[in-house]
Amino acid sequence: MLELNTVFTKMLDAVARNVTAVNHALWLQPLSPLCVKDTVLFLSAPTKNIKKTVEKLYIQQLRTALISINELFTDIEIVTKDQENDVLNNSDTSLGGELVVKDTKKERKNPFVTKYTFENFVVGDSNKFAFHAAERVAKQPGSTEGVINYNPLFIYGGVGLGKTHLMHSIGNYIFNTYPSLKIAYIQTDIMVNEFFNAMTSYKTENKMSVQNFRDKYKKVDVLMLDDVQFLIKHTSVQDQFFQIFNDLYQAGKQIILSSDRSPKDMDLHERLVSRFMGGLMVEIGKPNLDMRISIIRKKMQQEGIAVNNDVIFYIAENIESNVRELEGALTKVIMYAQLVGKPYPDLQIAQEALRFDKTKTEEINCDSIINAVSSYYNVSKGDILGKKKTKDIVNARTMAIYLITDMLSLPLMTIGQIFGKDHTTIMYARDKISQKVSSGDEITLRQIKDVKSIVSG
Ligand code: ADP
Ligand code: MG
Repeated sequence: MLELNTVFTKMLDAVARNVTAVNHALWLQPLSPLCVKDTVLFLSAPTKNIKKTVEKLYIQQLRTALISINELFTDIEIVTKDQENDVLNNSDTSLGGELVVKDTKKERKNPFVTKYTFENFVVGDSNKFAFHAAERVAKQPGSTEGVINYNPLFIYGGVGLGKTHLMHSIGNYIFNTYPSLKIAYIQTDIMVNEFFNAMTSYKTENKMSVQNFRDKYKKVDVLMLDDVQFLIKHTSVQDQFFQIFNDLYQAGKQIILSSDRSPKDMDLHERLVSRFMGGLMVEIGKPNLDMRISIIRKKMQQEGIAVNNDVIFYIAENIESNVRELEGALTKVIMYAQLVGKPYPDLQIAQEALRFDKTKTEEINCDSIINAVSSYYNVSKGDILGKKKTKDIVNARTMAIYLITDMLSLPLMTIGQIFGKDHTTIMYARDKISQKVSSGDEITLRQIKDVKSIVSG
């Protein structure tokens, strides 16, 4: 049984630390809980303006908070007063009363990125073992048949080479094929953060206790932990994880881990290393030229875009480091063509668009990005990293956060620490700019291009 008002109050409290008191009072407190349909919480807003603002600025934070309070919820919808009746008439729950949230597992949203599938993954020498192992685990999670032990499956390799893509492919496959299996996919840095929250706040009723934390993971049939190299520094988390790992393993549940390096090269407790190495370890390497060309073609096919062969070849030849950069380069070339008003990118456009990528990337770090943002927007470094909320400063800060997530592969938690914010705030800043980028906002695109050119020197 869940009391709607309690859930609502807890949710508002949870977002309070990321929202200024004024904004909290202006936009969030006027909301009221309306009802729950399936797994969606409906909130009522007194005015259209409040609805619009909340949808634009706060909905993601609210959703994250709601799901962490009760994971049976999947989403939030906001309606205005005049829409209340429509919603309530179709609803099987009554306003503000006691209600039972149905466990509608099958209706729950797929948490995996839908385009990260096995079909969309280009297979070649550098990743075929990882691919086949992932496919097998997806088809028979937890199975002990055959001579090879696939539990845990440990996928490792450098950044941007497809580890997360493969994990989501497994997730999508299981989600669609075995609807009754409970799958948990989590970024290790977020799990670490969740654990520390559970540890420090078990007294305040809003947050999970350590026991809840462990129980939550014990309940799953398939546990996927992405980027486990982030376990390294945390002894207490390693202990907890070891327990969770053992419980699941003994119950025949499938565990899938990814890391940027092999367990041998991670500074982990011996017992955890031996657990990690107890199943199948597969490495993903860098793609060769042929694969890079195939990946670009696949990407174009997926996005329905056309690019000449000489442009494809130029990109594939020049971007060797990883697939993420390869995709980034393709996007950049297409965007650049749009910026200069050409329908299709030609070789010259590609060369111009990628000019900056060839400079030494090893000198790019948080500091160089923040310095570049500081000089471009004429906002001091102290202000970018500080707490002031004036428009210019917030703009510069948001851009700095976006560029750091875009140009470096740092965990969100680490970026959060640099800015003195938690990972949801970082995610929010990143998504805010990403949305503008994907909607082709010219001013934003130009600013990104300008700042990146300063960073690259
Ligand atoms: P990692 O987790 O190893 O850092 P990701 O899985 O996030 O890397 O991959 C980065 C990007 O490259 C994603 O957009 C992914 O779809 C794409 N990608 C990586 N490998 C392949 C591949 N073999 N085929 C198609 N796309 C790929
Ligand atoms: Mg990844």
